[in-house]
Amino acid sequence: MDEAIQVKGLSVSYHGVQAVKNISFSVKKGSLVGLIGPNGAGKSTLLKALLNLIPIDAGKIMINGGTVKENRKAIAYVPQRSLIDWTFPITVLDTVLLGTYPSIGLFKRPKKTEKEWAFQCLKRVGLESYSTRQIGELSGGQQQRVFLARALAQKADLLFLDEPFVGIDMSSEEAIMEILKDLIHSGKTIVVVHHDLNKVIEYFDQVVLINKELIGFGESERVLRSEILLKAYTKQVPFLNQLEVKL
Ligand code: ADP
Ligand code: MG
Repeated sequence: MDEAIQVKGLSVSYHGVQAVKNISFSVKKGSLVGLIGPNGAGKSTLLKALLNLIPIDAGKIMINGGTVKENRKAIAYVPQRSLIDWTFPITVLDTVLLGTYPSIGLFKRPKKTEKEWAFQCLKRVGLESYSTRQIGELSGGQQQRVFLARALAQKADLLFLDEPFVGIDMSSEEAIMEILKDLIHSGKTIVVVHHDLNKVIEYFDQVVLINKELIGFGESERVLRSEILLKAYTKQVPFLNQLEVKL
């Protein structure tokens, strides 16, 4: 079984209005996939639907050949930064430790082993010296790296990140990309919602391009062609000129 994600005929609506319509695609294990499309295209909706976080109208979702529920522990989700309450009083290390909870059980206290593992994960994202800081004190890029460390602490096989680069500095973006590429080499499967077309080919092996419906799916170079992009971005394709130069 080398398919990590299989989606067939997925449709989602909010109060009778369709946000995602009849989407099908599949992702092999070890892929780094960009989920792209204009604002309001349904990227976050698709991601949440894949993770069983919102009800779906129709469709079938398989993760590692089974249901999402069966694979819950294997899945890590980093929501959009704007949806996280950054004033919540919790230290950086404790945030990462939350990632170990699925394996230790919610009502058991983490022991030394878990704390050491959380610290290792924090080290992996280069933030070990921030372990005792409050999460709200960190910059956007650092907060995003802490959430990545939490996903690492969970030892998940699949990582889903929603717009991880919005509002963060370039050095954090590059650091995160480097870690993601590294994780792919150790067999993880990663889906990143991304709306900036500029770096898509550089960052992702494959893309899923949507605008409510699936517009394109496959190798980044094949999908990021003007004739395909124009179907998704009806008004204007951002960075199309630069992309055409690269293609
Ligand atoms: P994207 O992440 O691509 O910007 P979203 O998935 O957030 O798009 O939204 C897709 C569509 O669904 C948009 O029209 C948005 O307004 C609508 N939508 C998203 N979340 C909700 C919600 N909780 N209730 C009602 N409509 C929603
Ligand atoms: Mg979104």
